[in-house]
Amino acid sequence: MRKQINHDVLIIGSGAAGLRLALELADSARVAILAKRSLTEGSSLYAQGGVSAVLDPRDTIESHVADTINAGAGLCHEQVVRFVVEHGPGAIRWLIDHGVPFTRKDGSEKSTEYHLTREGGHSHRRVIHAADATGHAIENSLASSVRAHKNITLYEQHIAIDLITGQKLGMNDNQCLGTYVLDLEHGKVDAFGARCIVLATGGASKVYLYTSNPDTASGDGIAMAWRAGCRITNMEFNQFHPTCFYHPHARSFLITEAVRGEGGCLLLPDGERFMERFDSRGELAPRDIVARAIDHEMKRLGIDCVYLDISHKPAVFIKDHFPTAYKRCGELGVDITREPIPVVPAAHYTCGGVATDRHGRTDLNNLYAIGETAHTGLHGANRMASNSLLECLVFAQIAGEHIQNNLSQMPQPADLPAWDESRVTDSDEEVVVSHNWDELRRFMWDYVGIVRSNKRLERARRRVELLQHEINEYYSNFRVTNDLIELRNLVQVAALIIRSAQLRKESRGLHFTLDYPTPDDKKAPEDTILVPDEKNLSQDIDWTGTN
Ligand SMILES: Cc1cc2nc3c(=O)[nH]c(=O)nc-3n(C[C@H](O)[C@H](O)[C@H](O)COP(=O)(O)OP(=O)(O)OC[C@H]3O[C@@H](n4cnc5c(N)ncnc54)[C@H](O)[C@@H]3O)c2cc1C
Repeated sequence: MRKQINHDVLIIGSGAAGLRLALELADSARVAILAKRSLTEGSSLYAQGGVSAVLDPRDTIESHVADTINAGAGLCHEQVVRFVVEHGPGAIRWLIDHGVPFTRKDGSEKSTEYHLTREGGHSHRRVIHAADATGHAIENSLASSVRAHKNITLYEQHIAIDLITGQKLGMNDNQCLGTYVLDLEHGKVDAFGARCIVLATGGASKVYLYTSNPDTASGDGIAMAWRAGCRITNMEFNQFHPTCFYHPHARSFLITEAVRGEGGCLLLPDGERFMERFDSRGELAPRDIVARAIDHEMKRLGIDCVYLDISHKPAVFIKDHFPTAYKRCGELGVDITREPIPVVPAAHYTCGGVATDRHGRTDLNNLYAIGETAHTGLHGANRMASNSLLECLVFAQIAGEHIQNNLSQMPQPADLPAWDESRVTDSDEEVVVSHNWDELRRFMWDYVGIVRSNKRLERARRRVELLQHEINEYYSNFRVTNDLIELRNLVQVAALIIRSAQLRKESRGLHFTLDYPTPDDKKAPEDTILVPDEKNLSQDIDWTGTN
């Protein structure tokens, strides 16, 4: 029998949130990090624009708070917003002290000031960045500090399958005890025990056919937390990034919002500028408005894409500010210094997630959630650009401090039952996984995408129930693989999104439905909170109840 693996703190996920937390804790605890791919692979690595924080003397905390709340369309938790914004400058100083090479003013290495850019929804320049590859700079700096720390053990190519809770083991408490983990290189499942477990698994945008996210974004943490008995909040609010590079035969990648911030214009194929018809802020309107406007124009004209043009700026400025976009578009035949970039919207960010408190704690004892997988109340119904890395960094630090202060009272890892494979065999029909994977992401795009309706959501519900049934049956009969684990999580997350969208009988922020096209002003805006049934361990969704 394989031996249980124990640590003080087990962090599932190695994006900005997970790595920042590990460095907060490692001087005082034995920390392990699980990453289902290589250490740096995840959304954090691909973040381009930057991190928002009040760093310019002409900017104010009040202004950043007000902009965030304005974007959040009535659902931001004001105290959380203020708390995160106030911690912003400190979070950036910490990154600078840990060697993150942010772009300096005037491009000079000697300058002591940093260049700040402006993005949609922000009323000041407050986005600090490392050219247009900020995530790369942050992730690699944190990863090298993590690799060098003797108290941190790394498990790359290890995917967590499910959380082990006291309740699942028949104990009378709601404690998280560990997780089962598939070692992807050796194909074996181990039980990992810890005094404290942290979900830092990122978002769920992979549930949609078109996404800016890497393959890691399959909502594993949200699905695992739901199955373990945690509440999940506001899953109807998916952000669609308005401008992903469009190419009929290449994978889409994101064109940073900073291109619009620096004067990029959105154009129809005939060269008409159209954003002002939708919002007086034009190209600088919040993302949901821009994404819906593009979606509307594409459907109205039956076109495959619109265009984003920055070519009126000097070529040297473009190459300097957007080296990644310049290089990647160039590889696909578009010289952005001379011609407009073909763009379409794509699923980009999961605003909802595992319900957490001000310390990152979930509903289960000793289980925390941070980063995109968590719902903290910062983003409300719509995330403002560059606030998500900020949330990762601030909540990693705050959760780290809370864990440090409480670790001595958290029990030592319990003895966990070994993973039982006695009743499963190797799969005989891999096609079930690949077919269901494609079907799920296609109907989520068509029926639960940028524009929804009661009918579309009902169609999606019928399909997701069937897929969940098939996938659960398959999961009980065959050995787990990476694809099966991710598909099981994606279908769970899809069900949570559809249910949340059905419960919101209004349009607000990122959730737009043709049947209720305006916000419901008759009552105060409320979060959509899905509560798992304590008695139902399979955690099927109650499609008929009120939550
Ligand atoms: C293209 C792009 C550009 C962006 N630009 C910006 C920007 O400019 N500014 C900004 O603020 N935000 C930006 N965002 C959003 C931001 O990058 C993410 O919200 C943030 O990086 C999420 O960090 P995270 O640590 O929560 O998760 P991630 O960075 O996604 O990391 C998740 C980690 O969890 C691991 N994992 C997941 N499931 C499992 C499992 N079951 N077992 C083991 N490990 C698991 C993954 O391997 C990975 O290590 C962008 C996102 C994308 C995709």
